[in-house]
Amino acid sequence: MATTKEPKETVQNTDSVLKQMSINNHEQVVFCNDNDTGLKAIIAIHNTVLGPALGGTRMWAYNNEAEALNDVLRLSRGMTYKAAISGLNLGGGKAVIIGDSSKIKNEALMRRFGKFVNSLGGKYITAEDVGISTKDMEYVKMETDHVTGIPESMGGSGDPSPVTAYGVYMGMKASAKYVYGSDSLNGKKVLVQGIGHVGEHLVNHLVKEGAKVTIFDINKERLEAVAKESGATIFNGSDLYELDMDIYAPCALGATLNSQSIPKLRCAIVAGAANNQLEDENLHGQMLLDKGILWAPDFLINAGGVINVYSELIGYNRDYAMTNAQKIYDLATSIFNTASQQKISTIAAAKLVAEKRIEEIGKVKLSY
Ligand code: NAD
Repeated sequence: MATTKEPKETVQNTDSVLKQMSINNHEQVVFCNDNDTGLKAIIAIHNTVLGPALGGTRMWAYNNEAEALNDVLRLSRGMTYKAAISGLNLGGGKAVIIGDSSKIKNEALMRRFGKFVNSLGGKYITAEDVGISTKDMEYVKMETDHVTGIPESMGGSGDPSPVTAYGVYMGMKASAKYVYGSDSLNGKKVLVQGIGHVGEHLVNHLVKEGAKVTIFDINKERLEAVAKESGATIFNGSDLYELDMDIYAPCALGATLNSQSIPKLRCAIVAGAANNQLEDENLHGQMLLDKGILWAPDFLINAGGVINVYSELIGYNRDYAMTNAQKIYDLATSIFNTASQQKISTIAAAKLVAEKRIEEIGKVKLSY
């Protein structure tokens, strides 16, 4: 049975694939190639003790295969923790498609990808992630039933981003309560980095509550459109991390919390949607703690999306998904208290809870 015990080594992308898998005990990695459609993808299954490995598919123009493999290994492991801490009967998996989604993504490529997902017989269930839309999932669905996040018109749960954003908002409010003694975000200076599907919904919650929101995105057109619609201010400085803010919300890609950015941060809280925000989870979780910054673990507060697609598997009901996403507030509070009592980082506290559940449920269930 796979376990998620703390690795003694750090993954190096020069290690062999099997060595990289063994460091965090990944169960299976599938490389997918199809010359006719141009599909190059990697599916990583980290752990199936709690159930089938569910996690979205990310499409990104990675610089090389090593970068894509590193991303899918990190993301799939994060999904194991996310499902476990959220009380879902799911394992952790993820897929990446290598390439620029605006250039090479089409029906044939997505359907070919769907066939690869199908070949795993339900051990991996896919959904959307960065670069992938509900329309793409419709194509995947033509080739496999092992897909979630399909359009509402097809009986699915549609775009999970509003539920993810709501959960992040709950996690941010719990963080504010912990740090400031009140969960009101009225007047708080919040920087949202990445105003895509999740970021935009988060900005709307924050503006509605009276927060002073600054936004940044590499997509200038989107930046201007969201600023116009929400009233948020566009970041116009030279270094995002040096901005005077109360709360930093990373909602783009991962690893923005690293040895270069953390020393510059002038905020009290980091709470955002991006997966794998810590470049090195042990080193940078502790670095934030030492700096007196409260970090709301990403896999805990961005679980709204997986909560939403999970409810699609058991009979979709958006109110039920939103109610469960709301529980992120209490869960985050209990993780912050545990971390404080045990004098450990919030990621260490969150991992303890997730690993305990995997260990306990592992005793009563066989692997998938
Ligand atoms: P998205 O692709 O819709 O949005 C990402 C945005 O980030 C884009 O607008 C992109 O231009 C921007 N971006 C990329 N690199 C950037 C950079 N260096 N600086 C500033 N902006 C940058 O993706 P999304 O669905 O909103 O997801 C955002 C993050 O949240 C991802 O890390 C994703 O894995 C995570 N997440 C999403 C969900 C969900 O339900 N969609 C669930 C859990 C976690």
